[in-house]
Amino acid sequence: MTSELMAFYSAHDDFNAWRAALAAEDVELRQADDIVEAGRVRHALVWKPPHGFFARFPNLGLVVNLGAGVDALVGRSDLPDVPITRLSDPKMARMMAGYVLFAVLRHARNIPAFERAQRQRRWHYIHPRDPETINVGVLGLGELGLTAAMECARQGFRVRGWSNSPKAVDGIETSAGPDALEAVLGSSDIVVCMLPQTAATRGLLDAARLAQMRSGAAFVNVSRGSIVDEMALIEALRTGHIAEATLDVFATEPLPSESPLWTMDKVLITPHLASIALPASAARQIGENVRRSRTGEPLLGRVDPGRGY
Ligand code: NDP
Repeated sequence: MTSELMAFYSAHDDFNAWRAALAAEDVELRQADDIVEAGRVRHALVWKPPHGFFARFPNLGLVVNLGAGVDALVGRSDLPDVPITRLSDPKMARMMAGYVLFAVLRHARNIPAFERAQRQRRWHYIHPRDPETINVGVLGLGELGLTAAMECARQGFRVRGWSNSPKAVDGIETSAGPDALEAVLGSSDIVVCMLPQTAATRGLLDAARLAQMRSGAAFVNVSRGSIVDEMALIEALRTGHIAEATLDVFATEPLPSESPLWTMDKVLITPHLASIALPASAARQIGENVRRSRTGEPLLGRVDPGRGY
């Protein structure tokens, strides 16, 4: 162990699991509130720490966001002028891809219709479609988004991915930039939102964008609720323009009990758990970044606060 410390703050993550996983990487993790020698703290592993948190640690050289989405961190006015990294963990990406694949298959295989029919004791045959005839649009081809898109392609779906900058990915049709979004929305039977919340994506899927989706398409949101105009989404579900949705994230979380989404039987609601950080595998990247921050090598998963992700 070195004499450096990593300060930990999260109201809901398991400190002991992170401490053990990081000890294996030779990183000493302490609960921030238990740290007396603040000067020894060189790194912080945080999820939504209270305002003013960072000012307690004058020698901080690296802030690790305890998650992939950094929107809650990068907008803060009390950020220290040090590099910020997000978690980058293949098992987190695999868990997310599993959720997305579940949601896509659920819509592609008409499972909601069978669930409704079962409740009515109704034998309701719908002839299965060849996945190659089903277009899946994946908005956001980042670490999680690209893994999920490739998983859908592996199942035979025709996948169209959309991102900020152009990309070439085997087996996936890609496009980039605002002008290309309409074509992706208009050609997808299932749209999966995997965009980070930034100034450019907040409210991006508004009524006009939702209207560009194919009539009767399904919508899956696993990134941030704020990217979609929730009232417009509810209206599109009411009219049937969007036939079904699987929603893991919401404008306000927990989803308020008065939200009409709760009672829509065409909507599956899960409480923001499509993927989580797994200490045993995520600790490796953190340990590597601690080593890199000592030697001045480029960090893995570095966030650009100006860009917002
Ligand atoms: P990344 O930051 O790795 O990638 C973001 C992707 O979105 C990139 O492909 C980027 O394009 C694209 N993008 C960003 N802004 C725009 C824009 N304005 N227009 C078009 N494309 C854009 O994100 P991840 O894939 O790792 O994660 C996605 C999100 O998932 C996270 O930000 C987080 O909010 C959410 N999340 C949700 C969880 C859950 O349990 N529900 C768990 C973990 C994360 P480019 O490649 O060109 O930069």
